[in-house]
Amino acid sequence: MQRYGGRRKGKRTSRTSESSGYPRPIDSEPASKELELPKTLTVKQLADQMNSDPIDVIKELIRNGVMANINQVIDFDTASTVATELGFTITAMADTEEAFAAYSQLDMADDDPSKQVARPPVVTIMGHVDHGKTTLLDAIRESKITEGEVGGITQHIGAYQIEYKGQKITFLDTPGHEAFTAMRARGAKATDIAVLVVAADDGVMPQTIEAMDHAIAAGVPIIVAINKMDMPDADPDRVKRQLVERGLVIEEWGGEVIAVQISAKTRQGIEELLENILVVAEVAELKADPDRPATGVIVEAQMDKSKGPLATVLVQTGTLRVGQTVVVGNSWGRIRALIGESGQRVTAADPSTPVEILGLGHLPQAGDSLWTVPNEKIAKDLIQERQRRLDTERQVLTTTTLEDASARISAGEITDLNLIVKTDLQGSIDAVRGTLEKLSTDIVKVNIIHSGTGTINESDVLLAGTSKAIIIGFNTRVEPGARRMADTDKIDIRVYDIIYRLAEDVQTALEGLLKPVQQEVVEGHTEVRAIFPIGRRIKIAGTYVTDGRISRNAIARVLRNGQLLHQGTISSLKHFKDDVREMATGFECGVAIDGFNDFQIGDVIETVRIE
Ligand code: GDP
Repeated sequence: MQRYGGRRKGKRTSRTSESSGYPRPIDSEPASKELELPKTLTVKQLADQMNSDPIDVIKELIRNGVMANINQVIDFDTASTVATELGFTITAMADTEEAFAAYSQLDMADDDPSKQVARPPVVTIMGHVDHGKTTLLDAIRESKITEGEVGGITQHIGAYQIEYKGQKITFLDTPGHEAFTAMRARGAKATDIAVLVVAADDGVMPQTIEAMDHAIAAGVPIIVAINKMDMPDADPDRVKRQLVERGLVIEEWGGEVIAVQISAKTRQGIEELLENILVVAEVAELKADPDRPATGVIVEAQMDKSKGPLATVLVQTGTLRVGQTVVVGNSWGRIRALIGESGQRVTAADPSTPVEILGLGHLPQAGDSLWTVPNEKIAKDLIQERQRRLDTERQVLTTTTLEDASARISAGEITDLNLIVKTDLQGSIDAVRGTLEKLSTDIVKVNIIHSGTGTINESDVLLAGTSKAIIIGFNTRVEPGARRMADTDKIDIRVYDIIYRLAEDVQTALEGLLKPVQQEVVEGHTEVRAIFPIGRRIKIAGTYVTDGRISRNAIARVLRNGQLLHQGTISSLKHFKDDVREMATGFECGVAIDGFNDFQIGDVIETVRIE
């Protein structure tokens, strides 16, 4: 199923305005006498915008008591008075930075808490291939489709909503953790709850573990659905044991993870699963403000020959309405129509509702975010500003190598070294894990976010990218697709065949990380008892070392009555006439300090070194 994911090459809409660099919305309106004005502009600029003769504008200004020449700057109020009289309708142009500040923050965090109301949970189904994800999605949809839609259950878009006990639940119909992490890689967090499907007859398999680790890395709560309970060789206890071995302890065994035994085929346990989804959703207190401008995330997109780009969006906050201007990824458009999951036209979609939109200028990608904006101008500014920020971010992000991690930990930026470990055999996973985990210290923690057997695949690279992890392979190889992706995304993959070398590399990195923080250590104090001028400029302090020692290459501080007067390097240290490297307690020495000549008897010179 290649439904999920990227742009299809060569099928971009032809409705792109190449000259402006921006896509035009399909229904862009004919030029009207509307005028958007900035805070200030010159008389000439105003005339140009109105397609008028500057002389007419100047005349109109004079009529309004403003004497202005063609290059004079006028303010918004003045400009709009004149333009209104010349038959224009005026709107204020938002300042780019202001617009960006206002609209870049459009995420859930900005909801006014007092306006938030409960929203349905959004669920993704994950698990090993053939364990029953698709069958489960179908079973849930067919059994619990929203009231009034029974009979018309041909699903139209890549997500659906059901109603159970009067409460809605949204399911994303892009099963699998790759889709989930690919969306995360694009900055989208669409999923509230992950249902991990494990076939009771087959048990925990490599992709089960991948899915689990991907959900954990994203901080998404997991509900385990032990499927195929109708099979004669179903062994749910074995599944539970295998999960516990992987650190996922289910409730029944004292942990926190709910496990439900189901059969997607006979529909046994589906109600219990839904019940538990609602329980987990309630704990998560999922809320959004339906009254604010909508934001959402693209779940899937495809090009339709007659309708243009079609995108399924999951509304995350606010309410999306027909006619609104939206920014999606790097393009914008005006919503011509909204289509519900059964193909029906709708006028609005509130939080957690999946809906298909018509009217985008470009085909977006799954994981792109969607924002509603007040007008076309802001949409364009926003796209430009976002692109600029993305470019900068990308430069910062391209640093997931062991060396960079090392440098960043030593700079105190990170305290965890995230690793993904892939090995040839299950037995070697344990050996490698054990070796690596032992390298953790109080300061830096080796954090194995995922380990498994087999080749290093694209899913590993995706996870490494979103979790800033380094991939360590032992006696395994890198799949060509994964290698290409790692090269593009600058993900570090290190493959070893000797465990000692592997440990040594990580250890070295950690030692780099463990470079001690620089700190000052006081070496000693020496008291000024006499002052000897040398020539006109330089003075030497004749001192007596009262404690510790004074060394030639230390940093010296001159203290008077406990106050710091000067800090500098020692330019000369002598015992009588001899230059010395250091002087111990109870000895006399002559000290000269670079850039300081105002010694007084009784000053104390303190020496420190940096460790
Ligand atoms: P997916 O790859 O995880 O999406 O798995 P599918 O949903 O395509 O299911 C794989 C196979 O397992 C299909 O032949 C399904 O009919 C079968 N299957 C799924 N759920 C069950 C179940 O609960 N019991 C039995 N006996 N077979 C199931």
